[in-house]
Amino acid sequence: MELEQLRQQALAQLEAVADETALSSWNSQYLGKNGLLTQALKRIAQLPPQERPSYGQQVNALKEALLAAFERKKSELHQQEIARSLAAEALDVTLPGRPVLRGRLHPATQVMRDILAIFAELGFQVYRSREVEDDLTNFELLNMPPHHPARDLWDTFHTTVPGVLLRTHTSPGQIHVMRQYCPRPIRVVLPGMCYRYEQITARSEIQFQQVEGLAIGESISLADLIGTLSTFAKRFFGGDRRIRIRNSYFPFTEPSIEVDVDCILCQGENAAGPSATATLPVSSCTLCKGTGWLEILGAGMVHPVVLRHGGYDPERFQGFAFGLGPQRMAMLKYGIHDIRLFWSNARHFLEQF
Ligand SMILES: [Zn+2]
Repeated sequence: MELEQLRQQALAQLEAVADETALSSWNSQYLGKNGLLTQALKRIAQLPPQERPSYGQQVNALKEALLAAFERKKSELHQQEIARSLAAEALDVTLPGRPVLRGRLHPATQVMRDILAIFAELGFQVYRSREVEDDLTNFELLNMPPHHPARDLWDTFHTTVPGVLLRTHTSPGQIHVMRQYCPRPIRVVLPGMCYRYEQITARSEIQFQQVEGLAIGESISLADLIGTLSTFAKRFFGGDRRIRIRNSYFPFTEPSIEVDVDCILCQGENAAGPSATATLPVSSCTLCKGTGWLEILGAGMVHPVVLRHGGYDPERFQGFAFGLGPQRMAMLKYGIHDIRLFWSNARHFLEQF
């Protein structure tokens, strides 16, 4: 009778158990070393011998029953715990995902590609040349011997190896391409990074891209150069752009010229009558500073000394060369006021292109 009471009491309490802690204390209350069932077992010794086997069987049956009930409860609680944690950490697959940011080409790359595409249509091939140069190719072979005053135009990054420097312009590429192709005709553009040890301002950087152009043949004239650059200006800046030629000086060309394009904002002072696309009078234009013209590049006919260094006979061959700055072109075309933005990795700038 006592055992039956114990069974009912134990099972009722187990039924009410709701967590691991309560289950553990139930276990020690009934099945533990000093638990009620253990005490019932010990009682065998006090019974008359003839009652012992029957009592022992009942106690053992009860112990089996309670152990089985305990295991069931334990597994039940475990399942509940899994269900609870799954509910709490639910992954809601109906939420929209984070949009993947789409990359784009850097404005310098875009402008470079635009420029190269225009010259490609004019029959110019792209020729890549090294950025680390020797003094000989960067200066001497381009008609700038040591102590030539033109070297003072640029402050140069010299390396710790004597005579090795970061190229200050793309023009040394002219020597490489001439020596590779001589005596065949040449029509190439040489794009790439150049380096000058300059104070960094809104208008000058220590590194910048340049595109050099070089054409060599037996009947190349200044007219070919002007025609090429005029076509380029129209194609790059759009509209009916006109160019203006001013005389200039570079050691590696003779004669040397500088080329301006009529202002893309105010359309320039020489525009025939008021232009439909002009947004303001020349006098108040900040882009061309009231001059009506924008300086875009330097050019000229390849100097006989340079031709000879490239392997060509200046009595037979002539050539033209030009050098333009893609960053400057992009600044003019898109109204960018600070050249430092190109290499600053500023997303607010880059995302506009
Ligand atoms: Zn203007």
